[in-house]
Amino acid sequence: MRLFGSSGVRGLVNVDLTPVLAEKMGLAVATFAKAREVLVARDTRVSGAMLEDALVSGLESGGANVKCLGITPTPVLAFLARKMRVDAAVMITASHNPPEYNGIKVFSGDGLAYDEENQDMIERIIAEQRFRLADWKTIGHAQVADESYLYVENVEKRVKLRRKWHVVADPGCGATFSLAPAVLKGLGCKVTAMNAQPDGWFPARSSEPNAQSLTPLAKVVKILGADAGLAYDGDGDRVAFIDEKGSFADFDQVLAAYAAHVVKENGGGTVVTNVEASMGVEKMVEWHGGTVVRTKVGDVYVAEMMKKRKAVFGGEPCGAWIHPQFNYCPDGILSSALLLKALEDENKSLAEFVAEAPKYPILRENLSCKNKVKEEAVEETGESLKSIFPAYREFSTVDGVRLV
Ligand code: MG
Repeated sequence: MRLFGSSGVRGLVNVDLTPVLAEKMGLAVATFAKAREVLVARDTRVSGAMLEDALVSGLESGGANVKCLGITPTPVLAFLARKMRVDAAVMITASHNPPEYNGIKVFSGDGLAYDEENQDMIERIIAEQRFRLADWKTIGHAQVADESYLYVENVEKRVKLRRKWHVVADPGCGATFSLAPAVLKGLGCKVTAMNAQPDGWFPARSSEPNAQSLTPLAKVVKILGADAGLAYDGDGDRVAFIDEKGSFADFDQVLAAYAAHVVKENGGGTVVTNVEASMGVEKMVEWHGGTVVRTKVGDVYVAEMMKKRKAVFGGEPCGAWIHPQFNYCPDGILSSALLLKALEDENKSLAEFVAEAPKYPILRENLSCKNKVKEEAVEETGESLKSIFPAYREFSTVDGVRLV
């Protein structure tokens, strides 16, 4: 059985993901990274502390000293990994999934999530039980640490806003509960916060920000006459926007509009997105002299390609945006700050900014399908699409099928 998916190990708590597996993951990471110093963080999920205890135990047994950052957004952990020059960083989160799920995502010391090759190595160590167990004299020790101020300082130093924006921040009871309002205040915004208490039951809304789950935020933005609503997912690597009229900013449109803004600022450049994004990204980016490269769905693939192509920006139409001048981990808080900056630079409201990008019909839906027939189903879908649209210009099998 494969442990890793496109976003690390993820599954139902105490069914797929048990403390026993978390402990093995800790030991495997310590073994693989020959780790001496490791950071561990988690989102607000009910099972987070239980899994953290087991994971940390495994890391210590492998000889790694652990700094436990507690509830911290994924991008903040990735930033700190690089800043503090540790050997590995491990995030306990199931991102935007329901509360009964949890997961483990591993980052290397450069702040990049483990790629497929590294994930395979971890899996093999676990499968073959090739653990490096430390001698009793050299087992690691864990300590609680709060280093998030380093992240706040970095954003405040590098993003300067001139206007006093009124924003409604909605962390959805997830990992950004204190940092998102704090950073936005630090940038001079007037911040109204809602759902800003940490709660792993996600009682206020789904941990996945989308048009439906953000209906209450949209109402609050409209009633308060705020400039924007900013909503984060469970672990804070995604952001979704509500414009000043109280409308949900379409994920594809705002991605295309922001990508175009970055290309304009840079006088060209490469933008990376996944095969799922609307062709509005090409329309906007190419119009401003840039090029678009598409990858498989998953921020790890987008980040890898961005590094390879020295891209100026990358993002997925779920609100996961990567800003390479800061880090290669998608960052919701930073993305919201940079979007406000873009609005200032272009002298536009959020609704005006989003309206620059074309809106194409798009339907996203999950269909259940047995694993063993997936490949066949994709192949048949591709063939039937080709016969329905014989005038297609491009047929891509990067991930599933895509016709242009
Ligand atoms: Mg996430």
